[in-house]
Amino acid sequence: MKRLLSALAIATTMQVTASEAPKNIIMVISDGMGPAYTTAYRYFNDDPATPEIEQTVFDKYHVGSSSTYPAKVSGLVTDSAASATALAAGVKSYNGAIGVDVNEKPVKSVLHKAQSLGFKTGVVVTSQINHATPASYLAHNVNRRNYDAIADSYIDDRNNGQFITDLMLGGGWTYFIRDDRNIVDEFKQAGFHYVNNFEEVTALPKDKPVLGLFGDKGMDQALDHQDKHRLATMTSSALNHLKNDKGMFLLVEASQVDWGGHANDIAWSMTEMSDLDKTMQVLEAFVEQNPETLVVLTADHSTGGMTIGANGKYAWFPTWIKNLTASTETMSKDIAKTGLDFERLAHQLGFQLNDDEVVTLKESMSDAQSYWQSNQEKLTEKGYTKESTVARQMRKAITKLIDKRTNTGWTTGGHTGVDVPVYAFGKGASVFNGKQDNTDIAKHIFKMLASQ
Ligand SMILES: [Zn+2]
Repeated sequence: MKRLLSALAIATTMQVTASEAPKNIIMVISDGMGPAYTTAYRYFNDDPATPEIEQTVFDKYHVGSSSTYPAKVSGLVTDSAASATALAAGVKSYNGAIGVDVNEKPVKSVLHKAQSLGFKTGVVVTSQINHATPASYLAHNVNRRNYDAIADSYIDDRNNGQFITDLMLGGGWTYFIRDDRNIVDEFKQAGFHYVNNFEEVTALPKDKPVLGLFGDKGMDQALDHQDKHRLATMTSSALNHLKNDKGMFLLVEASQVDWGGHANDIAWSMTEMSDLDKTMQVLEAFVEQNPETLVVLTADHSTGGMTIGANGKYAWFPTWIKNLTASTETMSKDIAKTGLDFERLAHQLGFQLNDDEVVTLKESMSDAQSYWQSNQEKLTEKGYTKESTVARQMRKAITKLIDKRTNTGWTTGGHTGVDVPVYAFGKGASVFNGKQDNTDIAKHIFKMLASQ
């Protein structure tokens, strides 16, 4: 036994040999996707017409778990910046850190290491492209909130003389087209192909680097988007664009699973997971065609303390979030603009409201209006209008209504410190088996790159 253990120890510390190293590395991060999310998604995705619970693409490739705690100075619960820095560079840092260590010194990401080796690289996200996760792979900044400075660095910084990456797809007009600087124009002048019409994302020229922006900040939610699997569509196009003999490193982020968690909006998170499911299927097909490819999926942390079953009731009913035709954001904006319209709401929710729910929403509406009346001055100062205030309040009321129907629970509007699942398939996938730390994921990828 002892000998077996030491043999195992040697095997796990061994360098990856060149023939074992993948040529293409696809790192997928599902922001906020703790274990409750992948479990919930299995039931959300289940076909009620069959007696068994169908396994998801996630179940198929589950290999282990990862701890997510940040550097000591930030305690035990991470934010997306510290966690993305750990996943990108293998270094624990403080919450808010973008590609810098606890001493605010820049640390190299696996993406930039891959680029130095001649790989093509790219990032595909549904948040703004300068949001914490992609930024930690592309940039260095002491604070994730320095959005303009991070956007500036995307055009100003060079990695060994090259632009920081070959392809960026996501949102971010607000940060890239500003009064003081038009970074989109600068990218165009530098020879980038710019696309802002989503329909054109599938027709990227092979001979030019690409900047694609499809939203002011984040992209529209999957539920409101013309393409319910917009991440899958972008990923497929990015793979085509980046494919080359030398290899590629691609970061894909399902950014808004986390945003659904922060909003305690189970329908938002589950529909973003559905887009991620489709994305994993795109990657699965790519690995079949290109077996020299590694795909790793993990989360940076869990969000919302979401629970499947709540309030002492042993039940969860995802059926109530299966037929939504609009996001709760759209529903509440419509209400704030034109008032409560229960027929429209039934169409958007995919079910008829019962009498109690109608009463509750009417009460919420009058509460929202009196909240505006009595706090008008303070709210105006903060930049809110009557419409945005009512929309915000009504959104809470609608997500609560959905929680009650589905019996979903939440403990926080922030993050939680639980370990997150790890999924891997393709060449070299087995190194991610078992319990690891988020920094180990980057360390494994650096090792694979070192052997190229
Ligand atoms: Zn978050």
